[in-house]
Amino acid sequence: MLSLRYLPNVATLELDAKKCNGCKMCLFVCPHEVFAYEHKRAVIADKDACMECSACAVNCEPGAITVQKGVGCAEAVINSMINGGDPTCDCGEDNNSCCC
Ligand code: SF4
Ligand code: SF4
Repeated sequence: MLSLRYLPNVATLELDAKKCNGCKMCLFVCPHEVFAYEHKRAVIADKDACMECSACAVNCEPGAITVQKGVGCAEAVINSMINGGDPTCDCGEDNNSCCC
């Protein structure tokens, strides 16, 4: 999983450090090791690795994390990994012009 990367500088992931209680749940659930732990709080260490699956935001009890789930081709890639077959988000007229 770590070899898969999203497009650079487009991930919608944001973390409000003031709301973080340091529970580390985001570090446990993120499949791409996007977060690190510094000074008893989570920090975004590798934003471009985020696939916008939203697992971190769903499991962040104080609501410190926001991310727009399934933007662009990320959801298609994840669904492909789960269900098999080629990823497609139906953004192109055919599979040859699709973004993913
Ligand atoms: S899940 Fe939320 S509260 Fe817990 S460490 Fe991550 S950002 Fe902080
Ligand atoms: S949205 Fe998914 S890939 Fe991105 S930081 Fe959260 S858990 Fe990791």
